Amino acid sequence: MANLDTGLFPTWCGGCGDWGIWAALKAALKQLNLATHQFVLVYDIGCSGNMTNHLRAYGFHGLHGRAIPAACGIKLANHSQKVIVIGGDGGLLGEGMTHFISAARANMDITVILHNNQVYGLTTGQSSPTSLKGTKGKATPLGVVEQPLEPCGFALLSGATYVARAFAGNIPDTTKIFVDALTHRGFALVEVLQPCVTYNKLNTYDWFRQRVKPLPTSLGNVYEAITKAAWTDQDIFTGVFRRDETLSAYHQTFAILKDKTLIQYQEKRDLTKYIISQK
Ligand code: SF4
Repeated sequence: MANLDTGLFPTWCGGCGDWGIWAALKAALKQLNLATHQFVLVYDIGCSGNMTNHLRAYGFHGLHGRAIPAACGIKLANHSQKVIVIGGDGGLLGEGMTHFISAARANMDITVILHNNQVYGLTTGQSSPTSLKGTKGKATPLGVVEQPLEPCGFALLSGATYVARAFAGNIPDTTKIFVDALTHRGFALVEVLQPCVTYNKLNTYDWFRQRVKPLPTSLGNVYEAITKAAWTDQDIFTGVFRRDETLSAYHQTFAILKDKTLIQYQEKRDLTKYIISQK
């Protein structure tokens, strides 16, 4: 496995949950022993997307809310790649909501790591689709009126074949879930509870530590999974809510992609000057 560090020190605020996700993702990629040419990261805009500067890997930094369609395009062009999306609750469930639903419905073989900090951090603290009702912020001085979206329940309803939740304050368990998600064939969502220590003063590490619990039992069906994925005042479960390997991933439904990737049908060009060294 190549060295994943770029040597640039991340610019996230001290204590931000993005640090834990970054550490867990690096550990998971190392455990899977993937060479740099075997995976690609697609970043959305946001504090999470700033990870692009801090992972020495092939990547693409998309427009706000458009990381998932870019990831789908990369997957279909070269389905031998593991394709990982890094995005926040704002980009993936606000601007990018329909892309999220479409990719889950299609069982597109990508892993979506959703940094859920319940706020738009990069633009300094506006409420997001997952902000709790009543949350006051710069754009909502009287409090959020809408009910929050719950990423895991939303993914389950959209047909995602792998759905899990982790907590950025628990790096070993987050690493395990990333490894598990990255070995799933089909659409995988990992919601990571990611405290924003600067703009979200409600959903802090302590707030989560009082509520986060591992799933007590394995789940029978998708309806039970939706129920367990729902946040309550007392419990926010972490773990895997659904893993279904029985359905074909989107690219597997095309006979033309059985033996070759799309790019292998194209004329070969010399791309060696772009290849990242394995040292
Ligand atoms: Fe993290 Fe929030 Fe700072 Fe962004 S603003 S780096 S999400 S703590």
